[in-house]
Amino acid sequence: MESVDCVVIGAGVVGLAVARALAQRGREVVILEAEATFGTITSARNSEVIHAGIYYPAGSLKARLCVAGKAMLYDYCASHHVAHQRCGKLIVATSAEQVATLEGIRAKAAANGVDDMRMLSREEAMALEPNLRCEAALLSPSTGIIDSHGLMLALLGDAEQAGAMLAVQSPVLSGRVEQDGIVLEVGGDTATTLHARTVVNAAGLTAPELARRIVGMPAALIPPQYYAKGCYFTLAGRAPFSRLIYPVPEAAGLGVHLTLDLGGQARFGPNVRWIDEIEYGVDPADADSFYDEVRRYWPALSDGALQPGYAGIRPKISGPDEPAADFRIDGPAVHGVPGLVHLFGIESPGLTASLAIGEEVARVCQGIGGLLYC
Ligand SMILES: Cc1cc2nc3c(=O)[nH]c(=O)nc-3n(C[C@H](O)[C@H](O)[C@H](O)COP(=O)(O)OP(=O)(O)OC[C@H]3O[C@@H](n4cnc5c(N)ncnc54)[C@H](O)[C@@H]3O)c2cc1C
Repeated sequence: MESVDCVVIGAGVVGLAVARALAQRGREVVILEAEATFGTITSARNSEVIHAGIYYPAGSLKARLCVAGKAMLYDYCASHHVAHQRCGKLIVATSAEQVATLEGIRAKAAANGVDDMRMLSREEAMALEPNLRCEAALLSPSTGIIDSHGLMLALLGDAEQAGAMLAVQSPVLSGRVEQDGIVLEVGGDTATTLHARTVVNAAGLTAPELARRIVGMPAALIPPQYYAKGCYFTLAGRAPFSRLIYPVPEAAGLGVHLTLDLGGQARFGPNVRWIDEIEYGVDPADADSFYDEVRRYWPALSDGALQPGYAGIRPKISGPDEPAADFRIDGPAVHGVPGLVHLFGIESPGLTASLAIGEEVARVCQGIGGLLYC
């Protein structure tokens, strides 16, 4: 049996950030990835927005790691030449009742330390974005967009430079807790058994399922696994806005919003569909509801302008009728298994928070902050 200091399971943006943080602290790190390359699952199927940290409950991991992660990410993009743009976003109230909601969102943001939000009258908002129709809007200047693949390439480069190794087509099938670490059964062409002192489960959508396959991990402490699919539709031609445009949030998602890519193309989405099995098809019929929702803030959207784009799946650990769950970084202090850290429910803003999550996991592994050493 081969032996290694740390294994990170999953090479999405979060697994890569964790591997980087551990390797830069001098740990020997192997990243095991089931797919043929890194970053092809949720990290490749999202809005690529650098979130400001507006919506999350004060003190939650989502709020703290998003706000910290945003600052780290802007610095990282600048120092590592990762393409990004601090374009700003408008949250728009399209009815008189929604105007009060905007005030609530601003207060929530301020409680999270996001204190640069500005209320705009209808006229002020339309002066910034002439194609917009709204009653009022909230401007978030620190929201931006990022090339997520460029970010992952840079994170992997840093991790490898610090000695980490990425093994692709290496799905972790199961594990068992032993006295001095965790033994993993790894599939793929060169199936192997690997002993690790530290294991970080960053498997994204299937992290709870994988945790259940580790003998010795208390099953009662593993959250349920739900999938909430989000589809995008793209807009042919020039984008009508220069900032991101969001309606006031809805249950389980942020509403059908307009985001821009770094090439200036606009896309709308994601919507929310709870599903049982992982699949990424985009049903052209879903466009009907997109037209209705988008025309509330952009009435000039013409018939036939939306084309099916792509879909991503939110790795949920709370169900459709439950309040949104917080991120979970479950180390030994939570479940009592030395050396094991699970990342559960890392949905949005996981991309924004990735560097901060990496640092947090490295701290958990060092036993800093009252958590057990692993
Ligand atoms: C529709 C949508 C929009 C979003 N928009 C944003 C946004 O604008 N801004 C933002 O900050 N966040 C956003 N997010 C959230 C963000 O995309 C995720 O939080 C982030 O990508 C999660 O990264 P990850 O590394 O945890 O997961 P993943 O990217 O899913 O990576 C997990 C990896 O683990 C691998 N794996 C799984 N099981 C195994 C196994 N048994 N063995 C080995 N490898 C395994 C997978 O192949 C995969 O590569 C969005 C998410 C969705 C779904």
